[in-house]
Amino acid sequence: MTAGIYLARSKAKAVILDTGTLGGQMVLTYEVANYPGVLQTTGYQIASTMKKQAKTFGCDIKSNVQITDLDLKGDAKKVTVNGQVVYTAPAIILATGGRSRMLNVPGEKEFKGKGISYCATCDGDFFQDKEIIVVGGGNSALEEAVALTNYASKVTILHEFDHFQAFEHAVEEVKANPKIDFIMESHITGFYGDDQLKKVKYKNLKTGEEFEKEIDGVFIFIGYEANTEMLKDKGVALNRWNEIEANEKMETNLKGVYAAGDCRAKQFRQITTAVSDGTVAALNALNFIHGR
Ligand SMILES: Cc1cc2nc3c(=O)[nH]c(=O)nc-3n(C[C@H](O)[C@H](O)[C@H](O)COP(=O)(O)OP(=O)(O)OC[C@H]3O[C@@H](n4cnc5c(N)ncnc54)[C@H](O)[C@@H]3O)c2cc1C
Repeated sequence: MTAGIYLARSKAKAVILDTGTLGGQMVLTYEVANYPGVLQTTGYQIASTMKKQAKTFGCDIKSNVQITDLDLKGDAKKVTVNGQVVYTAPAIILATGGRSRMLNVPGEKEFKGKGISYCATCDGDFFQDKEIIVVGGGNSALEEAVALTNYASKVTILHEFDHFQAFEHAVEEVKANPKIDFIMESHITGFYGDDQLKKVKYKNLKTGEEFEKEIDGVFIFIGYEANTEMLKDKGVALNRWNEIEANEKMETNLKGVYAAGDCRAKQFRQITTAVSDGTVAALNALNFIHGR
């Protein structure tokens, strides 16, 4: 949407094609407290305002469409929508975002954003003096567990193996932290509560024994997936995690094809970083179109 705002405001003919309702992960975010210049708002509110802004400048927005074909290699980029309409343009910005890998156990979808989170930077603050579980055993799980001790009164790391797949210094750090506890060789079998998460059930994978634990929040860090399935065999360079490779100008390996936001290989995935990528991609796409 940021790219749409910049393109339309520069009088380029821009269209946003979204398989969803527009707003992406922002609409899953109830409260956003770290978007500069806005003290406290909801993800939905930011998304609606961005949409309004893009439309006001003349950006065409098509939501809930299915992209059935994509040709990115030639000078004219072609996007086929719903097997019928073909959009042709000299430049395209790929901004398909991503999703956190889910545990896929009962209650997870229901309590997402109501006690279950996939982002410590975004939601840690809401768990001040609360008891939480961190699921995962890689570097990001351990690093985020330590970060979450700045808010939570107690953090329990729950991991499926008897050891962590993280750097030694990260393992030492969690072990030395008095606020952090461990449940090893276990996995969560279900999430329970009313309008907010209250309890988890988990199983010891070695003994088969099942347990219940009352809890205020659960943070899940078991990996991240970019929404790049439609780019397979389309010529765009992806890294081994299927994230789009783009340089500082948001240029991909294909001329006239740009990437922005969470779908590209990058360190931090936030609204601010997506907005920044969208700006850079749009301005460079404009330069490309005008031969600058
Ligand atoms: C629960 C939660 C809480 C968060 N809280 C915060 C927070 O407080 N602060 C913060 O800064 N960040 C937060 N984030 C992160 C932030 O929401 C993302 O970094 C940001 O939304 C990324 O924007 P994006 O446009 O790159 O991708 P997305 O938001 O993922 O949007 C991608 C869009 O592309 C569409 N799409 C997907 N595939 C296709 C396709 N094949 N064709 C066409 N369209 C497609 C989707 O429908 C979607 O609308 C949170 C994320 C989550 C999940």
